[in-house]
Amino acid sequence: MSFPPPRAAYVHIPFCVHRCGYCNFTVITDRDDLVEPLLTAIETELSWLETPQSVDTLYFGGGTPTYLSPLQLRKLCEVLLQWHPLSQGYEWTVEANPGDLDSERIQVLSEQGVNRLSLGSQSFRREKLTMLERDHSAAEIRSAVELCRQVGIGVSLDLIFGTPGETLSEWLTDLEQAIQLEPDHISTYGLTFERGTQFWNRLQHRELIPVAEELEREMYLAAIDLLAEAGFDHYEISNFARPGYRSRHNETYWSGRGYFAVGPGAARYVDGVRQTNHRSTTTYLRRVQQGLSPVAEEERLDAISRAREALVFGLRRISGIERTSFEALTGFTLAELAGDTIHRFVDLGMLADDGECVKLTREGLLISDSLWPEFL
Ligand code: SF4
Repeated sequence: MSFPPPRAAYVHIPFCVHRCGYCNFTVITDRDDLVEPLLTAIETELSWLETPQSVDTLYFGGGTPTYLSPLQLRKLCEVLLQWHPLSQGYEWTVEANPGDLDSERIQVLSEQGVNRLSLGSQSFRREKLTMLERDHSAAEIRSAVELCRQVGIGVSLDLIFGTPGETLSEWLTDLEQAIQLEPDHISTYGLTFERGTQFWNRLQHRELIPVAEELEREMYLAAIDLLAEAGFDHYEISNFARPGYRSRHNETYWSGRGYFAVGPGAARYVDGVRQTNHRSTTTYLRRVQQGLSPVAEEERLDAISRAREALVFGLRRISGIERTSFEALTGFTLAELAGDTIHRFVDLGMLADDGECVKLTREGLLISDSLWPEFL
């Protein structure tokens, strides 16, 4: 089977001022000496593409891409544009922390053509930000949004709910403050305690007590209702957009299409092969500097695994999966791939099936993570 060349590219910048207690991303702190070597390694890794690959969406994630100085940011943008020129009507997103954004960095991003900023705002409440070990303030979120607006860069806000001790009304206030800023897009995530993080250890020692499951459900449903009232389209489990502002880059992942990626811990999917680079920034650097592949894991997906993944990603979208287009995309019917499982979840009220389309119900949305293993 031949795969069309990817039309999306991801770049991972692992630097952060501090590792937040809940974070399990590929992050490195207190190693400013590695910033320049990393930029050089990214350029080297890109050069292994051999020929520039044009894309429709480009995404700088982290870590914190805006940890870089304005000069370093400019250099990174220029190198990326050299290897991944952008097509007409592109989407170029950069993740940022409200505390790092100043007018100089925004100016560089705007001049280079970035048109979307994903702001790790998380909350507007001081106690919650402190609890999450975030070092920005509500005022810095507002000024970051204002800076973007001045240069015409669109904004997506990330918000976390269900932090220990949080009440429903505190969460609603966070949502209302986010809505008042009129972002184009909002992503909301319930706080998770991942093995290996500080929060996981604190959970084991009962220093942190998670909110009750019932309250977390209420918080999620309240977000769905409030954001819908404010004109946001709930288009994926955790994502809400004003009309025309869905994340096209993330839609690449959810639709099972390929994507390029560079940087430590970055995952790419090219020609039906999924590869993930070494998560350790120092290992990544050493290997690239020695001219060795930075890939730590590689998996060639067979047709049925690809179809199962497409099924799970498709169900994450609120519009669900349309039977005919799924078969055209994967070569499998939903019935042969997962007919019994679908029936079971329809009977349990987790999925709705009108014969043409299968999608999560409101109840299914609340427990979706526990459904996926059944399909994979
Ligand atoms: S700022 Fe973001 S990426 Fe960096 S440590 Fe905190 S949660 Fe992780």
